[in-house]
This record gives sequence, structure tokens and C-alpha cells, in this order.
Amino acid sequence: MRLKIVAGNWKMNNSIEEAQHLINNTLEQSPKMGLNQLNIFAVPFPYLMMAKTLIAQNDGFTVAAQNCSSYEKGAYTGEVSASMLASLKIPFCLVGHSERRNLFNENAAILYNKLNQLLLNNISPIWCCGEQFEDRTNHNYLDVISKQLNNEVFKLDRSSFSKVIIAYEPVWAIGTGLNASAEQAQEMHQFIRNEIATKYDSEMAEQTSILYGGSCNADNAKQLFSLTDVDGGLIGGASLQSESFVKLISTMHELY
Ligand code: PEP
Repeated sequence: MRLKIVAGNWKMNNSIEEAQHLINNTLEQSPKMGLNQLNIFAVPFPYLMMAKTLIAQNDGFTVAAQNCSSYEKGAYTGEVSASMLASLKIPFCLVGHSERRNLFNENAAILYNKLNQLLLNNISPIWCCGEQFEDRTNHNYLDVISKQLNNEVFKLDRSSFSKVIIAYEPVWAIGTGLNASAEQAQEMHQFIRNEIATKYDSEMAEQTSILYGGSCNADNAKQLFSLTDVDGGLIGGASLQSESFVKLISTMHELY
């Protein structure tokens, strides 16, 4: 069975005290995890080591960075390299979140460099893709995702791609309270899985975890997480309170 993942993306939120409470409460209230499920806290850079220390003895929990530099090292003030993250033993990092694409102008070339930096340092990218609202209303959404796949993750060789987790996040659903319907999510996840089979092979398609993101919450998680090609969620708003994040973790736990 593919790994099931519930990943909380905190974005630029929480003080250190709030961060500690959120992690501790989540750990205390979550069910005991088996091997099939991984829960990830994607926290701001300054909290990575604290988060790692707090979850150290808790099976089924880990941390992710939200970003890394597209450069290897050197005179890039304010940047954090993939090798720095590796030296802290951070296992995952988000790449290509729509906020990075849209607010920080990260294009396919930059994102491909980030993917390579992470993979060279043995960090698994959680690579995000998603269409804009107009792409959906123009019925253009499959082409948009296909282009993102081909210009970014599909440039990786088979062995590198095998370390990638995909998050499909329709941009119109992020932070809007308007999640993709079950039909919309399943259609896209199945499409992505078929594209992986065509690019690599069916074994790769079968083993790749594809997460859904975009206004996923305690009310809609069961429906979304039970879809054939949805292997979990990348959660923004609902990961900022332990009560809702634990509900999402527990929903996945009850399903698998
Ligand atoms: C996100 O930012 O990745 C996200 C899915 O946010 P939200 O859950 O708040 O829509």
C-alpha cells in the first residue's frame, strides 16, 4: 500500500510558544500510528530543530522545511540551502507551493534547481502543482498540470522521481474554504497517476503518494482521503489548531 500522509503547512504562522503547544498537543491527542501513515509538520526554518526534538520519540511523525534555495551555497544572503537542511537531518521539503510560484515568482527553472538541490542532499521533495480558477472554467486544467509535471518533476530520472511526493493543490481552493469536489479531486489524481505511468512506468505510478491540498478540513477529509488516488492531504489553515489537525490525522488513521 502507498504511504498515507497528512502534512500540515504552517506557512508564516505561530510564535515559538504557539509552535511548541501545537506540536505537543497534536502528539498527545493523536492515535498511535502504524507504519502506513506519516504525519508531517512543515514549519518555518527557525522552528525545525525544536519540532524535530519534540517529535523525536513519536513514531509516524516527522518534519519538513517549507522552502530551500535553488543555489548550492555562497553569497545568497537570507537563503537556506538544501545541504544545510540535510545537515539538520530534515527529511522533507515543500517545493513549488502556489504561494512561492505566485508571490515569489518561482518558475519551472528555479523549481527544477530546487528539486535537484534537495535530491542531491537526500531530502524528499513534496512537489506542489495546481491550476488557477480560469484554467478550470476554461477546461484547461489537465493541460496546465501536465505542463507543470513535464517542465519540473518529469525532468528527473526514475531514481530521483521515486523520492518525490506530489501534492495537487488547485490554487482556487487554497485558503478559500472552497475545496475541490470528490469528483474533481479523483479525476486529477488519476490523471497525474496515469501521466506518471506514461512517463516512467506503472510500478512508479502505483507507488507515488499524491496528496490533495486546498481547504481540506475535518468535515471533508473523510470523503477526500477515501478516494482511490488520493493518498492524504497537504493542509494549511486546518493544521494551525491541534484539534482540527488531530481530526485529520485520526480520519486517515481510521481509514487505513
Ligand atoms: C496550502 O497552503 O497548502 C493549503 C492547502 O492551504 P489551506 O488548507 O488553508 O487551503
